[in-house]
Amino acid sequence: VNAEVITVGTELLLGQILDTNSLYLSRKLAEIGVNLYYKTSVGDNTGRLKAALEIAAGRADIIVITGGLGPTVDDITRDGIAEYTGRKLLPDNETMLKLEHFFKARRIKMSENNRVQAYIPEGATVIENRAGTAPGFIIEQKGKVIAAMPGVPSEMRPMMENAVIPFLLQKYGIGKNVIRSRSLKVVGLPESLVDEKIHDLFVVSENPSIGVYAHQTEIEVRLTAKAENTESADAMIEGLKQKVYGRIGDAVYGEEEETLEGKIAEILLAGKMTVSTAESCTAGLLSFRLTNIAGSSAYFMGGINAYSNEVKKSMLGVPEHIIEKYGAVSAECAEAMAKMSREKFKTDCAVSVTGIAGPGGGTDEKPVGLVYMGIDIKGSVKTSRHLFTGSRDMVRARAGHTALFNFYKLLKN
Ligand code: ATP
Repeated sequence: VNAEVITVGTELLLGQILDTNSLYLSRKLAEIGVNLYYKTSVGDNTGRLKAALEIAAGRADIIVITGGLGPTVDDITRDGIAEYTGRKLLPDNETMLKLEHFFKARRIKMSENNRVQAYIPEGATVIENRAGTAPGFIIEQKGKVIAAMPGVPSEMRPMMENAVIPFLLQKYGIGKNVIRSRSLKVVGLPESLVDEKIHDLFVVSENPSIGVYAHQTEIEVRLTAKAENTESADAMIEGLKQKVYGRIGDAVYGEEEETLEGKIAEILLAGKMTVSTAESCTAGLLSFRLTNIAGSSAYFMGGINAYSNEVKKSMLGVPEHIIEKYGAVSAECAEAMAKMSREKFKTDCAVSVTGIAGPGGGTDEKPVGLVYMGIDIKGSVKTSRHLFTGSRDMVRARAGHTALFNFYKLLKN
């Protein structure tokens, strides 16, 4: 069986809200082995929703719709489905009573518009909405299933999980095939090189499969397997994962929801070690990231945003001759910044970043995107030179991420 997701709302088409519902629904359908071939977004217009339903019914067995079930005139999903299916909209007694009770309990006058929410297409099965007022519903029509739910994610998700999925599992006897996936997070290798190193693995394997996705600061390698149960799917992923680690393991810092700052925190806490920062072009990004973790006061002591050369010298204590001889954007300055931070904050480790974020200020010798970083772990300092591409924001984000990654790698070894 295959499905199509239709999200309703002009806001979606104007780019005012992010369509997280379709992302969520894609994952949920994949988990039960339903193939999703198309996603459609349509504005608040009955005629266009009807047209979208006709197209979807021509190519999918299951149509899952979210949004447009509210009480106002621009909530057109109910009407669109009624028109498409040729069914009347009839009040559902139980829903009406619940709505009346809802308004009475809050001492708000219930308007005629609010009553509209209790109307559902004739013959549809109501999906109760425990988190809001608009119910959803499921219709079976000419061998197709249409499931409609409100757009508010916190209302829609439990309805999908408690009603729509069990309905689909029952009706199609599916769920025998599950899809599981796992993402590996890669830093320090460009997408092209990741691709080159693991290309042969995904050419030969359709299931489990590999996808490589570039994000702003890192690359995600996503492994996906389809099998009869979660255990076999997980085993398939595990086998492939080992191969991928064999190729690019050095550049992988974590999986799924793991973060660099979280991995660093684990190591620092286990080793009872402390860290401080000295930042120029990232101006606090490292401190911010390192303190994203609850309990970071156990290892993060503080940082100096040494943005100007004056502050690098006076507050941080970078020797004047270093800045004069090599410039502020240099390996020597990055090294001195890390050393001085460790000294000032009396920490075990320190991380420094100095570079040219742009868009102005670059020269032939020191172009925009040139960043040096220093990592001092118990007096042994390693510096590295990087040339990042992209806008000012991207250079800064990439510099911060790479500095944390370098720190993590040194800590781990
Ligand atoms: P309700 O009956 O609870 O008002 P509704 O079905 O009328 O819900 P909409 O009016 O279309 O839903 O959307 C309500 C809100 O839900 C939107 O303002 C938005 O915040 C959120 N929402 C709607 N569609 C989506 C979507 N596809 N992805 C993420 N959020 C969404």
